[in-house]
Amino acid sequence: MDPLSKPRDQIDHLDRELVRILAERLDAVRAIGQAKSRDPSVPLRDEERERALFAAWARTAEEQGLSSYYAGRVLREILNWSRRDQERFLEPAAQNGPRAVRVGYQGVPMSYSDLAAQKLFATRDVGRLERIGYRGFAAVVDALEAGEVDYALLPIENTIAGSIDEVYDLLGSRRMTIVGEEVWSVEHCLLGLPGSRAEDLRVVRSHPVALLQCTRFLEGLVGVRSESFHDTAGAAEAVARDGDRHVAAIASEEAGREYGLEVLRRDISNQPVNITRFLLLARNKESFDARRPAKTSLYFSLNHRHGALLECLMVFEAHALNLTKLESRPRPEAAWEYMFYVDFEGHADEPNAAAALEALRAHTNHLQVLGSYPRRAEEGLELAGRARVPVDVQPVAAPSALDARTRSPDAPLKVPACPAVKTNPALKLVTRREGQPRTIVDVSGVAVGGERFVLVLGPCAVENRAQVNAAAEMCKNGGASLMRGGAFKPRTSPYAFQGLGFEGLEYLREAGRAFELPIVTEVLHPEDVERVAERADMLQIGARNMQNFALLKEVGRTRRPVLLKRGMSATIEELLLAAEYVLAGGNQRVILCERGIRTFETATRNTLDVSAIPVLKGMTHLPVIVDPSHAAGRRDLVVPLSLAAAAAGADGLIVECHPNPAEALCDKDQALTSADVADLVARLRPVVAAVGRTL
Ligand code: PEP
Ligand code: MN
Repeated sequence: MDPLSKPRDQIDHLDRELVRILAERLDAVRAIGQAKSRDPSVPLRDEERERALFAAWARTAEEQGLSSYYAGRVLREILNWSRRDQERFLEPAAQNGPRAVRVGYQGVPMSYSDLAAQKLFATRDVGRLERIGYRGFAAVVDALEAGEVDYALLPIENTIAGSIDEVYDLLGSRRMTIVGEEVWSVEHCLLGLPGSRAEDLRVVRSHPVALLQCTRFLEGLVGVRSESFHDTAGAAEAVARDGDRHVAAIASEEAGREYGLEVLRRDISNQPVNITRFLLLARNKESFDARRPAKTSLYFSLNHRHGALLECLMVFEAHALNLTKLESRPRPEAAWEYMFYVDFEGHADEPNAAAALEALRAHTNHLQVLGSYPRRAEEGLELAGRARVPVDVQPVAAPSALDARTRSPDAPLKVPACPAVKTNPALKLVTRREGQPRTIVDVSGVAVGGERFVLVLGPCAVENRAQVNAAAEMCKNGGASLMRGGAFKPRTSPYAFQGLGFEGLEYLREAGRAFELPIVTEVLHPEDVERVAERADMLQIGARNMQNFALLKEVGRTRRPVLLKRGMSATIEELLLAAEYVLAGGNQRVILCERGIRTFETATRNTLDVSAIPVLKGMTHLPVIVDPSHAAGRRDLVVPLSLAAAAAGADGLIVECHPNPAEALCDKDQALTSADVADLVARLRPVVAAVGRTL
């Protein structure tokens, strides 16, 4: 008998059970949804309860030997689904009973627009959903205006391709109301006939935008020609119809399933995040439950007057309305005049927003509200990997003695304020002026330099796929918000392991994505900067390269934040001058890192310059983190140096760890084990709290 058949039967059985349990859970969720729809005083979300749910779930998972991180992700999906499902009770349609609905979109069945339409209506109480594909955006709007469809779903922007101008122009010129939005995470797949192989392909068909988004992958297919098609799913349909094994399409997995194609390669986009936002349009306004977070879209035109746009923007500011989008489009009938499209959080009927709109009218030539509708912003952020599992991952280690001692009810210490000090006049951009706020550097959603103390964990070097995956899990469970890992290693000896290069960067990125950890990696050569910047969330300039001015200029041009390490014999002023290079190049996101300097002392690898932390804080507005690993060179010193750094006011730590330090190819003596990381976090907690921060 096949040894796999028994466990597979067991899996099939368990999967059926899982689905049954999900359905049962959803029944309970619906009962709550019904109760909420009857009582408008009950808030839709109970964040306290959600947090408790995550904590309990993580604990149970760990008790069962499961990764609390992955289990947490499953729960997050379940909660998202539950929340969306409850929305059906808040729709006006629910009161009238289900009805048949026709929605128009651009494309053929299983195009990304069609998939988004299915997602949007999956949790609406509609009787039957008829999805009708049209050729072109204008044709969809024509159908809506003619009453052929009840709704139109059109893409408005994509995180890579940007705004879809044609749809903006339709919004400005045709009569319709925005009644909803949806987000779809695009995952391009290479689809071929069953049995075909990527190696045998001659032609790849898709929409030109999809082809552009996959250039890197396509370049790797030698001798293959790209062919433009009006639509991704249309390309898949054509591949299936033509039956030529040398031809493949780029489209969604769902399109592949619809047209009987096989996924030859998955996830082939140049960019890891590729999200499209859609607008749901109708002929008339629709009301929705006031407890749902709303968004309003409008457009206005201005006359050509000094400060006119600023006056409009100040109205939003004065009414504390958060803008989520500002777009301008030319007015074809008036050369060099523009229409401005604005989205803000809130409903146009709320008194505050209504007052803002009133004030705005006085500053515009023309103003039109395009609609207020339930917003999907949170989900968009989540798809972009910028919302993380809200579970406070507490390492499962016994609290240490130090933990108990420092938890005394003494008055909490705060980091002493560092008054701004006069510096070298060449430090034009990095110097902190009197009263200037500190810079908070955003690293793909992680704020460095704010109230939260940031932990960057990871191995010295990326050694292979398995090692970096194990390390990522270790980092996540250890409470890291960012992951480090060197793909290019600057080594003192030419015979030492030099890193895996771009291959390693690919592994690091994969592992970071799997565990929702933005990644930081060192870049050594100016000519590699652009390519590394496409893959990494932050670029590290190592100690040996702090004064590689060509490299500093190059990272100054990129859009990625930079972690700048202090050279081992650099003064604080030289470090700041190096940072000045990056800021002067245009890149304002620099995080400084004290990593130990070379002194006469040989007991440690370097000497951690703790005083650099408050000195830097007085001189610059940039965040300062500390690398105790390279300072110490010894595992046993990492924790005490970390505590000193936190107490002296560092904004975070970058610490080396390894799933198996004894076998590390690089810096094995200083790498922490997962138990060490747990110990570090436990001891750090009270120190961080004492200086008025959170971990
Ligand atoms: C590193 O962080 O892996 C590294 C090489 O550090 P440094 O440049 O500080 O020596
Ligand atoms: Mn190292």
